[in-house]
Amino acid sequence: MTHFSDPSYSVQHTSGIEISRSAFLSNVAFVRQILGPGVKLSAVVKGNAYGHGLEQIAELCQDADIVHLSVFSAQEAQRILKVRRKPLTIMILGMIDNRDLPWAIAHDIEFFVFERDRLNAAVEAARQLGKKARIHLEVETGMNRTGFDEEELEEVLNLLKKQPEELELVSLCTHFAGAEEMANYLRIRQQLETYNRLYDKVTEAGLQPPLRHTACSAASLNYPETRMDLVRIGIMLYGFWPNLETRIMYMRHNPEQPDPLRRLICWKSRILSIKKVKMGEYIGYGNSYLASKDMVIATVPVGYAYGFSRSLSNVGRVLVHGERVAVVGVVNMNLIMINVTEIRQIRKDDEVVLIGSQGNKNISVSSFSEMSQQLNYEMLSRLPADIPRTITD
Ligand SMILES: *Cc1c(COP(=O)(O)O)cnc(C)c1O
Repeated sequence: MTHFSDPSYSVQHTSGIEISRSAFLSNVAFVRQILGPGVKLSAVVKGNAYGHGLEQIAELCQDADIVHLSVFSAQEAQRILKVRRKPLTIMILGMIDNRDLPWAIAHDIEFFVFERDRLNAAVEAARQLGKKARIHLEVETGMNRTGFDEEELEEVLNLLKKQPEELELVSLCTHFAGAEEMANYLRIRQQLETYNRLYDKVTEAGLQPPLRHTACSAASLNYPETRMDLVRIGIMLYGFWPNLETRIMYMRHNPEQPDPLRRLICWKSRILSIKKVKMGEYIGYGNSYLASKDMVIATVPVGYAYGFSRSLSNVGRVLVHGERVAVVGVVNMNLIMINVTEIRQIRKDDEVVLIGSQGNKNISVSSFSEMSQQLNYEMLSRLPADIPRTITD
């Protein structure tokens, strides 16, 4: 046991997140089975690995022999370098300051290029280092977020051809604007057409990017032809469908199978304190909850400061002793109150599951986020980074 005078002594946290290794490996196997052998898998670990913990997921990716990781920012790339123990390609999809390009190039970190400013800076950084920048050329195909416009392409390709010592074109890539919704079918089709046309322009210009990649989870499922050489898969690795529609479409075409995706995440806290409340008393701030009978209330040390949204006031559910119980009153900054009147022998320190399973009951992220009107993506990535994550089997 660590003695408290030890500087590394760490006090107990108010909650913790457990990440299931077996669920992750099972999701990876499912994704690989869908992709087949010819398509590379890049695990998207941006947003602190969708809230699961970047270091923990990078660890599990390496266990699963995933050799390609996609991050949003240079900072996330730097965090991965610290836990890398096998050859891993790191690809930055979004933010890297020009000042950090020499660092990225020196560490073999690849990055999207979607504007001239970064392209020019990459040439300069590569020249000074005497080492090629490995770049992914992102083209605008209709999302109108980032990507070179078609009119700019010729000039960019000319530059690439002039600077073979500085620039290595790893891929031509793009991103779809909502492949999870069939309502966007036409727009996605047009994006794909545009991408293919631009790809032809690149090859006609005499450049041969070894990789073509366009697909996220939803595109990989709904539009198999978007898989190409590599797919960038995020949400499915964490056990979620991009949206309900995608899940329904998949299940309709595979009626024999149970849902193949498994959640990794279990967010737990413990009961801080218990008290009795008499009928006719209000509970918590204000008057949003009036006890309609004598009640037993437990406080749990999580609140909106920890990602437990205020919109779960009076509607959230958590698990205690394997039972679903209600949040009563408003969610505070650091506390919630839950109704444990029906739970026998409730004690301080008893485990409370905020998301995940306990016994045979479950609080899913989607039920959690539906109650609070948040998308899975948003709810997960908002889980505070300072809640400790641990990997379990
Ligand atoms: C986030 C992101 C992905 C992954 O999307 P999922 O829906 O989580 O699979 C892929 N590509 C880009 C450019 C992204 O920003």
